[in-house]
Amino acid sequence: MPPKMMGRVSRRRPIGKTYSGEPGQTMIIDAHAHLGSDEVFDVNFTEDTLVASRRANNIQATLLQPGTVHDLAGVQRQHDDIAELCSRFPGRYHGIANPSPHLPAEQYEVEVRRCIEQLRFVGVKLHPLAHAVDPLGRHGRRVFELALALPVPVIVHSGIGIPWADPSLLSPIAEEWPELAIVVAHAGGAVFTAQAELLAARHPNVYLETSWTPGSQVLAWARKLGPQRLMFGSDHADNAAAELAKLRSTGLDDEELLWVLGRTAATVFPLDSSQRP
Ligand SMILES: [Zn+2]
Repeated sequence: MPPKMMGRVSRRRPIGKTYSGEPGQTMIIDAHAHLGSDEVFDVNFTEDTLVASRRANNIQATLLQPGTVHDLAGVQRQHDDIAELCSRFPGRYHGIANPSPHLPAEQYEVEVRRCIEQLRFVGVKLHPLAHAVDPLGRHGRRVFELALALPVPVIVHSGIGIPWADPSLLSPIAEEWPELAIVVAHAGGAVFTAQAELLAARHPNVYLETSWTPGSQVLAWARKLGPQRLMFGSDHADNAAAELAKLRSTGLDDEELLWVLGRTAATVFPLDSSQRP
């Protein structure tokens, strides 16, 4: 691992203090969407489907990850495509970097730094299933260390893909780096909801993205953990309408919906590039 990744950094962004939306405004932010071809799941996430679903559902901002790609050149192309879309729709799309953590250490770091520092992406993804990564292994820890140094949040896939997609494995990381925001994608994937809840209850720097999670579970978490810990995600563009209907019909009050639909994501991710140190 390059020496500059080894140490902690002192310049860190505070978590959860930078929401800049208007009071009372319900801004919808999709914290989990994809653009590009996915080699593992055989899905092609197209721009047309994505953009149409944003328009149809009045989604103001989208955090956009590539599909799963294993080689460096392939993921660079997808990152560039995301950056190009972001530049065509300023403020509407924000990139999330996801090169394979199994790339050589220097390649991984250079590509993530290119995404965050040059393309102005706002986070890093770790996919324990698609990239076959143990979050607590040498290559898994590399993701969190680099994100903390930049500093940006890490989104981690959870649920399908045991043992490494078990949210419990993130507890030592959340404890070791309390100023690193960790977003648990799919909040345990409906199977490991109890583990996701224990993780979030124990670590205030953990947030749950609720795609594919039952609405009743989201409501229970809003009351137990607070809506400030929950964020809407679609994962697939054609799932956005279903996820929004779920959140709007499950019994969340207006204030809770405000947070889950957008305010939480706006506080956790540096969507306004002026927030970036
Ligand atoms: Zn996804």
